[in-house]
Amino acid sequence: MHKRLAILGSTGSIGTQTLEIVSKHPELFSVAALTAWSNSDLLIEQARQFRPSTVVIGNETHYSKLRDGLSGLGIEVLAGRDAFDFVAASASVDTVVAAMVGFAGLRPTAAAVKAGREVALANKETLVVAGEMITNAAARTGSRLVPVDSEHSAILQCITGETMSSVEKIILTASGGPFLNTPAEKLIHVSPGEALRHPNWSMGSKITIDSATLMNKGLEVIEAHWLFGLPADKIDVIIHPQSIIHSMVQFTDGSMKAQMGVPDMRMPIIYALTYPERVVTDLPRPSLKSIGSLTFEEADLKRFPSLSLARTALSAGGNMPCALNAANEVAVTAFLQGRLGFPGIAGAVEYVLEKTLLNNEASLDVYEETDSRSRSLASEYISKTPKQ
Ligand code: NAD
Ligand code: MG
Repeated sequence: MHKRLAILGSTGSIGTQTLEIVSKHPELFSVAALTAWSNSDLLIEQARQFRPSTVVIGNETHYSKLRDGLSGLGIEVLAGRDAFDFVAASASVDTVVAAMVGFAGLRPTAAAVKAGREVALANKETLVVAGEMITNAAARTGSRLVPVDSEHSAILQCITGETMSSVEKIILTASGGPFLNTPAEKLIHVSPGEALRHPNWSMGSKITIDSATLMNKGLEVIEAHWLFGLPADKIDVIIHPQSIIHSMVQFTDGSMKAQMGVPDMRMPIIYALTYPERVVTDLPRPSLKSIGSLTFEEADLKRFPSLSLARTALSAGGNMPCALNAANEVAVTAFLQGRLGFPGIAGAVEYVLEKTLLNNEASLDVYEETDSRSRSLASEYISKTPKQ
């Protein structure tokens, strides 16, 4: 089993951890393509080490630097968004690791699925925005979508060897983030720095803020709906602050399976790349005696309304999850830049959902139009919302 990987978003948190796995398992993986948005220094370093056939930089102003940094190595250097789609669909790639952040991941992931490539999916926004289009296309082309997200990897590990008809429900665990015990009146004043301090996981900034608002869990409910074909009422969420159980499945006979491990994304990444096989790794093992106890509690939807908003968008269907995602991306950026308070993130999402007209057509055109309209609406909300 040797796989040639295209790693989209190779300079990010998931991208760099995927490359770490490749460097430890050269017998299993090689790199066919690497892509990034603007970090040309790291992309040059990665390309020099892993020698892909092609590298792509999204932001074209970095093209000449990248070309010069890789000259003489026989590596094809491309720039611009269309080049992402080109490498994602390339026949010289076995598996596309979709590890870019946000809506920008949709087009290249859709290109990979349309071309029938296997996709190791970290970019959950793709399924949130376009779950119907992507799963239909995958069914048509035979493209296999394997989750990298730790909760969905856990569910996949629990259902492997089972039949879906014996699944009563799935239970996604959430750490609760840095504000699990922060009272509502204090949430108004939390800073980006505090929100970026996740208790258990080290991740990119967007998903770290999503974890603090619990929007991440809302996005994961939508992601699970499309990955496993389950209705929203069969997807529960529970707070589990230790992040040792990555998710659980309740079966119809009353039995429940949980998948456990230390919070380390390299584990679900390598599982996605070798599924349904397991390989030997030297990744850390959980020490049950030092963990001591595992606890669970209900999510507080009053303090974290983003989770309910995601469920509302999922049950409305059509382009509503796309609007939710766009509003959230704009609001998270505004929060990180100090232009919006923490509760304003959910405020912007609610505002945009209320102003979005349902469109049930599952097409890239509709998603792109909804995304751009929702971004404008979210900016409108942010400009008229005084920061507390
Ligand atoms: P990150 O911010 O660390 O990295 C993002 C990568 O995407 C970078 O390589 C960047 O160059 C690229 N990128 C950014 N904007 C782009 C654009 N407009 N076009 C193309 N490429 C662009 O993000 P991350 O934490 O690695 O997360 C990546 C994805 O994986 C997200 O969808 C996230 O929700 C998901 N995910 C991450 C983790 C984690 O532990 N980091 C866990 C589960 C799921
Ligand atoms: Mg997750």
